[in-house]
Amino acid sequence: LFVTFEGIDGSGKSTQARLLADHLTAQGHDVVLTREPGGSPGAEEIRALVLQGDPDRWSAQTEILLFTAARRDHLERTIRPALEAGKIVICDRFADSTRMYQGLSRGDLRQMVDDLHALMIGVEPDLTLLIDMDPANGLERALSRQTAEERFEDFGVELQAKMRAGFLSLAEEFSDRFQVIDGGRDIDSVARDVTTTVTAHLG
Ligand code: C5P
Repeated sequence: LFVTFEGIDGSGKSTQARLLADHLTAQGHDVVLTREPGGSPGAEEIRALVLQGDPDRWSAQTEILLFTAARRDHLERTIRPALEAGKIVICDRFADSTRMYQGLSRGDLRQMVDDLHALMIGVEPDLTLLIDMDPANGLERALSRQTAEERFEDFGVELQAKMRAGFLSLAEEFSDRFQVIDGGRDIDSVARDVTTTVTAHLG
């Protein structure tokens, strides 16, 4: 089973991904918890190239290529081997983040993202949990733990609002695999919804 978490910065998806991994591991499942950008040694190096330093170093198009290269490595080295070994893979962000961030934030490049995805990745998750969150709250959380690395979190509420709307319409576009979860509640309530949804899929 390949499960991904998506949502805007500060939506709590990383916390929820970890809690889900802990829960399923405690239930005796073999779980791999991973993240993007990153998730394999090569992809983590690309993550550093993209997220650190001058934000204008790469054009939007080059950034799509770098994210796709990172995803390809992550898929080859981490995700596919784990799925073939029958493990549950939980990934904090995947291609839907690129459809949103690289596809929407600097002009409409969604087609380019989709074309490269079809050519080089070709895999969609079995289940995508969208942790939906009011951008003002999300940004507050994200800024409170901002690290030097994470230049993207300077995005501001306006762009986060665009991303939120984008994720919600993506959830409609891919309604067969998306589940929207209200992330504006306490951690335990959100975690309960996440567990229920994933358990139903394991059924
Ligand atoms: O999810 P995480 O906080 O690790 O993401 C790091 C940063 O990279 C975030 O601020 C996110 O907005 C950005 N990002 C991006 N494009 C992606 C994935 C993440 O701009 N495809």
